[in-house]
Amino acid sequence: MITLALSKGRIFDDTLPLLRRAGIEVLEDPETSRKLILATSRPDLRVVLVRASDVPTYVQHGGADLGVAGLDVLLEHAKAGDGAGGSAGLYRPLDLKIARCRMSVATREDFDYASAVKQGSRIRVATKYTQTAREFFAAKGVHVDLIKLYGSMELAPLTGLADAIVDLVSTGSTLVANHLVEVERIMDISSRLVVNPAALKLKREPLRALIDAFEAAVGAAP
Ligand code: ATP
Ligand code: MG
Repeated sequence: MITLALSKGRIFDDTLPLLRRAGIEVLEDPETSRKLILATSRPDLRVVLVRASDVPTYVQHGGADLGVAGLDVLLEHAKAGDGAGGSAGLYRPLDLKIARCRMSVATREDFDYASAVKQGSRIRVATKYTQTAREFFAAKGVHVDLIKLYGSMELAPLTGLADAIVDLVSTGSTLVANHLVEVERIMDISSRLVVNPAALKLKREPLRALIDAFEAAVGAAP
């Protein structure tokens, strides 16, 4: 049996077409079923549904043989050193080019980010991505106080909790709706296939075939 870890929502929705192109159908809809283990049209492949940020942990510790996770989540997981060896226990063979967005710094429209940076002021930054943000600002020599949040980052500058946020942006409409402006791009983000290295040794043939099928499906994507 091969176990593929996915998170509900965007990652699941964007991975489905890739699986379909590889001739694999997921037999249940996570939005209507309460099941956390979903059968597929391939009797030897099942999907487990976990939190987006738990995908690397599942794959690293063998709870799943492979999984799909955003680069944002993978970098944060690696830098946090979750589990032994950070991302050492994760083989990352493929950029699936799905769930694409960017990680950016945003502030209120009326906050002068450029001046704050130039003057060397301490900037209060709220984010879910504290490790990635810490490295980014340290490399620029910008002094920041990081505030860890788990969601609704846009609210932080509006309530005075922070001067800036580091968050994912795709169209930018959420920022606009909250009177925030993107002041700096940190990196482009997409989702990656991650594989447990021990599983790759033990189940080499079927896992290789699956990785190859994903690769072909990415290449064939419109
Ligand atoms: P959780 O709900 O467990 O807290 P989450 O809210 O980060 O996790 P999603 O919103 O489904 O879960 O995001 C999953 C992944 O999709 C992210 O890690 C990121 O790689 C990508 N993603 C997030 N926001 C966007 C976006 N606006 N556009 C495209 N991809 C995105
Ligand atoms: Mg979410």
